[in-house]
Amino acid sequence: MEKITIAIDGYSSTGKSTIAKQLAKALGYIYVDTGAMYRAVTLFAMRNGFVGDERENIHALVKLLPKIVLRFEYNETLGYSEMLLNGENVENEIRTLKVSENVSRVAEIEEVRHMLVDMQKDMGAEKGIVMDGRDIGTVVFPDAELKIFMTASPEKRAYRRYKELLDKGEKVSYENVLKNVQNRDRIDSTREFSPLRKAEDAIEFDNSDMGLKEQFERMYNYALRIINNKKTGVI
Ligand code: C5P
Repeated sequence: MEKITIAIDGYSSTGKSTIAKQLAKALGYIYVDTGAMYRAVTLFAMRNGFVGDERENIHALVKLLPKIVLRFEYNETLGYSEMLLNGENVENEIRTLKVSENVSRVAEIEEVRHMLVDMQKDMGAEKGIVMDGRDIGTVVFPDAELKIFMTASPEKRAYRRYKELLDKGEKVSYENVLKNVQNRDRIDSTREFSPLRKAEDAIEFDNSDMGLKEQFERMYNYALRIINNKKTGVI
């Protein structure tokens, strides 16, 4: 069967990873959550005191980048891959609001982006991959056969993230989560290197009022159509 590359980009908390995971499972593809990679580098920077609490030492972080080893490890029970930072499972820690508050700042750093984009390109060299992030359709895989750009209102997205964090036992307020979502949108969209924007050939999906089942079915059908056309040579 012909394999394709699927790039899913969009704003924070639009449900990219949920849909991407489902698509990968249905197609038997690899799923890569690139946000987890930026979050892991951020956690590394926070633990070393390079970012957070008004402190910032980007130069020191850049110098230590070669010491960071990132790896995804598939967890059979959970049914998805978890993030390992220098061999340590940091899957839960990278999802906290504290990391969310610092991640966009770290993701602006040119050297960080170069390192992670190179790793992501390698992961997708054989196709058969669903990757989600902010710059997948524009920078990582500009030739991806299927590109999706997901949006939803900031309030809906903040509410989803708020509920997720509460379910995990984090004590957060809706107002703080909304502020974080809006702040990340702003930094992600206006940064100098590979800002978040819709690729010209991406299909836009506003899921403010769309259920998961409908989103999945639509995207799965897009993917199947492209795969079948490739097989028959019909464009
Ligand atoms: O997807 P997630 O919300 O976990 O991503 C966390 C942050 O990582 C984003 O807000 C963004 O700043 C950064 N990111 C990025 N490029 C990507 C994926 C994530 O800049 N491809």
